[in-house]
Amino acid sequence: EDGGHVKVVVRVRKFIKRELDKQSPCIIEMNPSTNETTLHPPVQASEDAKSTKRAYEERKFTFDKSFWSHREQDAHYAQQHDVYASFGEEFLDHNFDGYHTCIFAYGQTGSGKSYTMMGTLDQPGLIPRTCRGLFERVEAEQNSSITYNVHVSYFEIYNEHVKDLLTPRTTPPTYLKIRESRSDGVYVQNLTDEPVKCYEDIERLMKMGDMNRTTASTKMNDTSSRSHAVFTLTLKQIQHDIATDSTIERLARMRLVDLAGSERANRTEATGQRLREGGNINQSLTTLGRVIAALADPKRQRAMRMTGQQNQSKRRADVVPFRDSVLTWLLKDSLGGNSKTAMVACISPTDYEETLSTLRYADQAKRIRTQAHVNQDAVS
Ligand code: ADP
Ligand code: MG
Repeated sequence: EDGGHVKVVVRVRKFIKRELDKQSPCIIEMNPSTNETTLHPPVQASEDAKSTKRAYEERKFTFDKSFWSHREQDAHYAQQHDVYASFGEEFLDHNFDGYHTCIFAYGQTGSGKSYTMMGTLDQPGLIPRTCRGLFERVEAEQNSSITYNVHVSYFEIYNEHVKDLLTPRTTPPTYLKIRESRSDGVYVQNLTDEPVKCYEDIERLMKMGDMNRTTASTKMNDTSSRSHAVFTLTLKQIQHDIATDSTIERLARMRLVDLAGSERANRTEATGQRLREGGNINQSLTTLGRVIAALADPKRQRAMRMTGQQNQSKRRADVVPFRDSVLTWLLKDSLGGNSKTAMVACISPTDYEETLSTLRYADQAKRIRTQAHVNQDAVS
């Protein structure tokens, strides 16, 4: 049993064309030695403050790590490799020790979530690097007494519907059901869980999944900014001890999640239009916010540490609303239970309000504790 905090890192991307055209200044600063991230008020601040009555102040946050991916010339510039090396690799080690892990990317549309998780062909992100690292270790360690089995699944949550990304699209679309059982926890029923033997197998599946996510959609951006993509690797280790003729199995699941753009959740929360906007709001993302707030609440954490009768009523009062959305239900363990979990808060270099909201969210996530344990069974 290993109680640890959710690891929270922040990453700022380079300017994109729109920002270069507007000559928007960068309002983010990162101190590589303290990992402090500073959000400066935008230049327009005083004017805007008058008209909107909003206070633009300098804000400082400290996370486990800050990744400066804004300017390649800078000494503290963080490449894709640096992001993987600083915690992707560590999480893979946990998997080989038999722990479940989860890494999710949070941020507004265009902040670099998909770049961080999937990346590009030239600049692969955390998912392809983790898959490569996994097979390098499997190949190096596999011997007559250890066998490894690796499976991959990939699904999307769009409008509270779960779609398998490893099966061809159908018309009408096929939606999968969520189930919960004592032995398996929460899972997606009939989800493809493809056995893979090498990195190239996974590469093929990643491509297929990404095609299924976006092809034939005229509103491509809209779909990817409003859907959550959940990529899951399952690693099973079967270890046979010849001396004692006993076999143990370890099962580790790694979830790599590219969340929908956070701007919608903010907007709906801010304007209180939650009910009226109906189908437009992202129920999973707003619920994720409530789940994180509940898990990070110091009152609840105190109640969790109490024992016996004294906390019964308190616990009931602080029920975390995992089941209020598909995403939070499926990630229940990753967020509040048996998993080592990390969040990558992705931010744009120019957007004060969205960035402040993302950094606050991330700051709250820092306080969440999970209780990971080694998933090991003696088979014989
Ligand atoms: P999101 O998935 O959050 O909507 P993307 O990952 O698609 O955002 O990023 C938006 C754009 O910015 C893309 O063109 C992407 O290639 C680019 N980008 C994002 N992060 C970086 C980075 N760290 N370095 C270089 N380009 C980046
Ligand atoms: Mg994206």
